Amino acid sequence: MPLYNTQTLKIYNSLSGEKETFKPIHEGNIGMYVCGPTVYSNVHLGNVRTFMSFDVIFRYLLHLEYKVRYVRNITDVGHIVDDAEDGEDKIAKKARLEQLEPMEVVQRYTVDFHEILKAFNFLPPSIEPTATGHIIEQIEIIKKIIASGIGYEANGSIYFDVVKFNETNHYGRLSGRNIEDMLANTRDLDGQSDKRNPQDFALWKKAEPQHIMRWPSPWSDGFPGWHLECTAMSTKYLGNHFDIHGGGMDLKFPHHECEIAQNEACTGQTPVNYWMHANMLTLNGKKMAKSTGNNILPREILTGENTILSKAFSASVARFFMLQAHYRSILDFSDDAIVAAEKGYKRLMEAMEVIKQLPTASKSTIDIAAWKQSCYDAMNDDFNSPILIAQLFEGVRYINLINDGKESLTAADLEIFSLAMNAFVFDVLGLEDEKTTDSSNDKLEGAVNMLISMRNQARADKNFALSDQIRDQLIALGIQLKDGKEGTTFSV
Ligand code: AMP
Ligand code: ZN
Repeated sequence: MPLYNTQTLKIYNSLSGEKETFKPIHEGNIGMYVCGPTVYSNVHLGNVRTFMSFDVIFRYLLHLEYKVRYVRNITDVGHIVDDAEDGEDKIAKKARLEQLEPMEVVQRYTVDFHEILKAFNFLPPSIEPTATGHIIEQIEIIKKIIASGIGYEANGSIYFDVVKFNETNHYGRLSGRNIEDMLANTRDLDGQSDKRNPQDFALWKKAEPQHIMRWPSPWSDGFPGWHLECTAMSTKYLGNHFDIHGGGMDLKFPHHECEIAQNEACTGQTPVNYWMHANMLTLNGKKMAKSTGNNILPREILTGENTILSKAFSASVARFFMLQAHYRSILDFSDDAIVAAEKGYKRLMEAMEVIKQLPTASKSTIDIAAWKQSCYDAMNDDFNSPILIAQLFEGVRYINLINDGKESLTAADLEIFSLAMNAFVFDVLGLEDEKTTDSSNDKLEGAVNMLISMRNQARADKNFALSDQIRDQLIALGIQLKDGKEGTTFSV
């Protein structure tokens, strides 16, 4: 029997505002879409937090033995500066400022994104589609929305008529807004817009002559709207109706609201059963954002090169720090908080070593099955990673008590205990034991230093054939020796 049949998973659904018992559309299979980054600059730690929240959700669903198709896109066109309707494309702007091709910008920051996620031990999604790779699909959806009477053309651009849509559907359902308030609170600033209503949003924009990112369409040479991209890419790979759609809280409106409207106008059915929104990482109490400069880059965590940081921290410590907060809570970044997280992480990793060599006994004095279920209960309760971590520290307490001979487990219980600790720490939370790499570094340093002293001895003995041989063979292995005033050092 698959594990998911033994657990009751509840997910907070932004659409209903309630925790709901999760039931996939097709038993045992899950389709999950998460809005990916707009690749016009380096991802900051806030972006990493949102993607990490969904990485852990993905990991837990896999742990429950669901078959998950996880689609996370790359936005490489159509996202306008300030998330506005009119203005410059974020990627085109960067290309103009740096005198690059837009696709050079896209390539550079997609590579950066992948490197960062790898360093932070993310599982890759099942499919990572790009918006520019799905222009044809987007044009097809626009045609359907026009055919349904909701899309209209104005000056070569296509807009979505939210007022007309709202006559039969509910625009604002996800974000808890209503169209009358929205219309009352918006002014058409220039009065010259092509739109019927200021709340209407673009499905397709005609490109101005100077606009370089453009594609042919039945209406004009132009480019797709940002909201439409996610509708096209999610339904292409997951179908018109799928299980989970996620993203950061700031995408709920207008991005996700517009996605729902587009899908409903195009197919007549609402696209997603469970909408999930991850909360923001703040710095000094303010949202981390690329545009304001109030942010830390993930690489700066690893190097310590940021005035806020007292030192460098490993990727696993940063992971542990972020997972100590529930994904729907705001989390503020500070040096003190990550220093404290590092202590907790080390304590956990030490216990993961001790558990490997615990003694066993003929009788168990701890109810391991109950403890294990409490770990599942934490994750079943809307992926509550801080409660899970608290349960894992309860596990650490058991490990130390058993090690001190104050509690005991049978061999069978110890195996259950050890498997569960390993599964939750490494598979579900995605932490890595950095001691392994640290200690191999220590060993390398020890071995090279030993060769350096042998080389010094050879030189003192005027045995230059040997000293050169040591130097050259190290170079062949990619290890460079450098003789300086303070002695010989090496770089790898
Ligand atoms: P973007 O590249 O701006 O489209 O953002 C990529 C993802 O990061 C989106 O899901 C955003 O909601 C999310 N995001 C942006 N800023 C933050 C932040 N400060 N904390 C957490 N997530 C964020
Ligand atoms: Zn999206």
